[in-house]
Amino acid sequence: MYDILLSNARIIDGTGNPWFHGAIGIKDRRIARIGAFEAEAGRHLDIEGRIVCPGFIDIHSHADLEILACPHPQNKIQQGVTTEATGNCGQSTAPVNQGTLEQLKQYLGLSSQDLSWDWSSLDEFWNRVQKQGLPTNIAPLVGQGTIRNAVMGFAQREPEAQELSEMKRLVSQAMEQGAFGLSSGLIYPPGLFSTAAEMIELAKIVQQFDGIYASHVRSETGNIIEAYEEAIAVCRASGVKLQISHHKACGRDNWGKVAQTIELIEAARQSGLDVSSDQYPYLAACTHLSAFLPPWAHEGGVQALLERLQSPADRKLLKQYIQERDDWENGIKQVGWDRIVISRVLCEEDKPVQGKTLQEIIAEKRADPFEWLFDFLLRNQADVRIFSFGVCEEDLCRVMTHPSTMFGTDGGAVAAQPEAKPHPRNYGVYPKILGEYVSRKQVLSLEEAIRKMSSFPAQKLGIRDRGLLRAGNWADLVVFDPNTIIDGADYQGEAWKPRGIQAVLVNGEIIVQDGEFTGKTPGQVLRRGSFAG
Ligand SMILES: [Zn+2]
Repeated sequence: MYDILLSNARIIDGTGNPWFHGAIGIKDRRIARIGAFEAEAGRHLDIEGRIVCPGFIDIHSHADLEILACPHPQNKIQQGVTTEATGNCGQSTAPVNQGTLEQLKQYLGLSSQDLSWDWSSLDEFWNRVQKQGLPTNIAPLVGQGTIRNAVMGFAQREPEAQELSEMKRLVSQAMEQGAFGLSSGLIYPPGLFSTAAEMIELAKIVQQFDGIYASHVRSETGNIIEAYEEAIAVCRASGVKLQISHHKACGRDNWGKVAQTIELIEAARQSGLDVSSDQYPYLAACTHLSAFLPPWAHEGGVQALLERLQSPADRKLLKQYIQERDDWENGIKQVGWDRIVISRVLCEEDKPVQGKTLQEIIAEKRADPFEWLFDFLLRNQADVRIFSFGVCEEDLCRVMTHPSTMFGTDGGAVAAQPEAKPHPRNYGVYPKILGEYVSRKQVLSLEEAIRKMSSFPAQKLGIRDRGLLRAGNWADLVVFDPNTIIDGADYQGEAWKPRGIQAVLVNGEIIVQDGEFTGKTPGQVLRRGSFAG
């Protein structure tokens, strides 16, 4: 007698092996039996020949602070995510130092300012979220930017010896509390002020706990090769397991360079290093417009940046840097004014420009591009989100099909139909891959795509009891129709819901049935090292 029986299913177990026909029995929240059998159950779901596979493990999630305001993120639940690795790109909600809290709030986005901030460690934050109730499981990472801010604010310099040892202590504390690793965002302040030598020291601590180092590398444009070399050098010197975040090359001049980044990953793997990457299947990235300003503009934090944007001398220098230099993530020059779309602004007056390219806005306003840009950033307190259409389809497919690439959303926790225009990756990564790249374009086989969504991220994170359909594993499952599954979200933010996903189960409970959230919150905050075997 099982609690739930899924019968008449095409089972894809997550290994990459071909599907087989059968049933899955769930008992006490775990998978109890898989195969060709019939049995009694408290609840019987006839799958009618659709696919049952492991729940999707989102290795690149930003569902951190947002989860407090949006505790049941429909965007993740509805696309089949059952576990998400949070705290990516250097940005975690803890550790918090009250002395640098204002900078942390700005680092994580101004919208977070109305929270009570009654936690100081990663453990305290996630315990609070656990009490609130979670539909999906969480595998937290600790962010290097958050740690650096806690110790030395937004200072643009190398750490003193005692500052470095304090950062190491904070990494160690988070790992002891069960974090799955350390993330970095080396295009964002304060992470971008860190050298490889500093990252190596922190990565050595992570390695002692067998955690991962997930890096948004220093460049995805002109200096992408050097940036991958730097990440791999950190991996080599520390022995840490490296995960390169959202693998892509942005800007027309850099298209094709993913052939070289893949070669670098292959060579590192050949030499015995554990290097892999993740990807979301969209041609546009989403980031802060201010991330495309030169590093010196960020020294001292957002307030200092706003002061620079008011100074005629600094404006002149900023313009010169953006026009002429390539020694940082100069996205405006590399991707282009015509390929950067404003997705979210802070101030009411600028709402009409949401959805337009920088080039369109400047043409309409008949303004000097740089004067308009600096005024625009000032009015919005530098809090402007953009889509930058920097990637080409050929590169996307090349990265997608490499065996060392897995998938992640790079998405946060967002409501079903929010006011602003979130990137469609928040809602549709897994359905888009399965509908567009597996069924329609046949870039990947169904089984290989599922492997990259389930057992591969589980293996990388060291989660031994999820990601594969095996007796004894937690019953995290997705049921979908391979003929109809597709994403529904677009860049205009008018639609969001994916199609073709019938059911999602987390820890043996049904959180999505017939495409609707059931209100159940069986998710758990996972702790690294808590797994048997
Ligand atoms: Zn990132």
